[in-house]
Amino acid sequence: MSRYAVISDIHGNLHALQSVLMRIDRLELTELICLGDIVGYGPFPDSCIDLVVKHCRVTVQGNHDRAVVDSGYADEFNGPAREVIDWTRQVLGPLHMDALCRLPESDHPNESLLCVHGSPTEAETDYVQDAGIAAQAFGGFSEPICLLGHTHVPMVFEAPADAPPVLRAPDVVAYLLQDGVPICLEADRRYICNPGSVGQPRDADPRASFAVLDLEARTFTVHREQYDIGAAQAATERAGLPIVLAERLALGA
Ligand code: ZN
Repeated sequence: MSRYAVISDIHGNLHALQSVLMRIDRLELTELICLGDIVGYGPFPDSCIDLVVKHCRVTVQGNHDRAVVDSGYADEFNGPAREVIDWTRQVLGPLHMDALCRLPESDHPNESLLCVHGSPTEAETDYVQDAGIAAQAFGGFSEPICLLGHTHVPMVFEAPADAPPVLRAPDVVAYLLQDGVPICLEADRRYICNPGSVGQPRDADPRASFAVLDLEARTFTVHREQYDIGAAQAATERAGLPIVLAERLALGA
């Protein structure tokens, strides 16, 4: 297969996930990759896990997924994020907990692709959000393309394939991605590609974000999808989760 739908950072937002999956179906994409953080922040962790397990061929574990099943790790979280991790642990049954537990930290859908949640380096929860951090991240993998999420901002970072082992920020080109505009993946370059967040976008566009990676056409294209934000907010409030988590959905922040 050469065409993949890439989703990430769903965060229990079932309304957003359902809209994205319908769009992926209309695009006739059958190979789905999930870059983790299925749960955390939103009120439907169980249904989101079910849909990801059903649809995604490859899924890696996000830091929120891990915090739900590893209470020692959860101590690194605080505020509303920690509150929802504790809530999620209480509402998930053993099968859903087991599904989160089994997720690998990284995976290879094929030889040219590495999938991680946060960063391919030892500092796996680093936010790869600017050229300087991306320069370090390029040192953490050898494949032509690394797919990652975690920042909730759709971006592509590009570096020369024959670069010195230690890259610096000026060696890296950063692209902010716009809805439906493909980035060409050149054969003599390496890439870090982030599809943005399905369930909690943070780039001031509240629409759900996902991407299509086409290895034959050599493109990475982000798509934005409307969903019923009001319904997602109401469900967040009904579940008794922190109100700030409902409010930020409308802001894309
Ligand atoms: Zn996340």
